[in-house]
Amino acid sequence: MTASAEKFTRQTLLDVQPLTPSLFSLRVTRDAGFRFRAGQFARLGVAKADGSVVWRAYSMVSSPFDEYLDFFSIVVPGGEFTSELSRLREGDTLLIDRQAFGYMTLDRFVDGRDLWLLATGTGIAPFLSILQDFDAWERFDSIKLVYSVREARELAYQDVIAGLEQRDYLAEYAGKLQFIPVVTREQHPGALTGRITALIENGELERAAGLALSPEHSRVMICGNPQMIDDTRQVLKARDLQLSLSRRPGQVAVENYW
Ligand SMILES: Cc1cc2nc3c(=O)[nH]c(=O)nc-3n(C[C@H](O)[C@H](O)[C@H](O)COP(=O)(O)OP(=O)(O)OC[C@H]3O[C@@H](n4cnc5c(N)ncnc54)[C@H](O)[C@@H]3O)c2cc1C
Repeated sequence: MTASAEKFTRQTLLDVQPLTPSLFSLRVTRDAGFRFRAGQFARLGVAKADGSVVWRAYSMVSSPFDEYLDFFSIVVPGGEFTSELSRLREGDTLLIDRQAFGYMTLDRFVDGRDLWLLATGTGIAPFLSILQDFDAWERFDSIKLVYSVREARELAYQDVIAGLEQRDYLAEYAGKLQFIPVVTREQHPGALTGRITALIENGELERAAGLALSPEHSRVMICGNPQMIDDTRQVLKARDLQLSLSRRPGQVAVENYW
């Protein structure tokens, strides 16, 4: 098969940055023909020693207009894909699908005033892409980025998050974004402690945000751990916030990572 007939392209690793022993970010070259909407994912492929290729879904962290692609990854102990991925170094090859997929995109919502982005762990990835693009900033009056991790050292991309409103192209929207870190297993200054579901149920999250969750105004995206997503969906459902479907636009969009 010729390279152009293949469903994937071969890209080069430009940079690998470990955050903790089990979390790292990577930057790779981007094929000029690769298009995606902020919030989508691509399938990444790595070749194993026996020559076979393992594929896994990864959300893009970078914005649709960046020349490169950024990804943020966990290392699952013994994980088929991440054991290989975490061995790659600058200059190595990564396979990337020609097509991007996924519905964790802002066009899931037809309206809304406040955008709530709720992530656990690597589930922060699509939200970073969304926040580096214009759409969310133009459409919503306020954006609450809620990022839950077990330990404070796992909070990734802090410089990117802190620098968003200083970017030239986002400066006119300064003041719209509030970053709300949540650390579940230790106390951390400036962070809430506890599970996202508990923080919604006991009102702490809304107090910290200075904003109520309501079907009228809130649009909520949830990404990461499937259990957290299920539990949060139930809590939101009890508050009349429903999953947004093409046949019935609602307030909630989710993406399970496993
Ligand atoms: C739409 C989509 C987007 C995704 N985007 C990302 C991403 O941006 N970054 C990323 O690291 N992963 C992402 N994932 C998960 C990713 O596809 C793989 O599951 C992950 O790379 C582990 O692969 P593995 O073969 O090593 O282990 P697997 O055999 O795939 O997984 C083994 C177990 O590890 C745990 N696990 C898997 N992924 C994660 C994770 N991300 N965080 C914590 N525990 C996990 C689960 O318990 C899972 O059952 C995404 C998954 C989907 C479906």
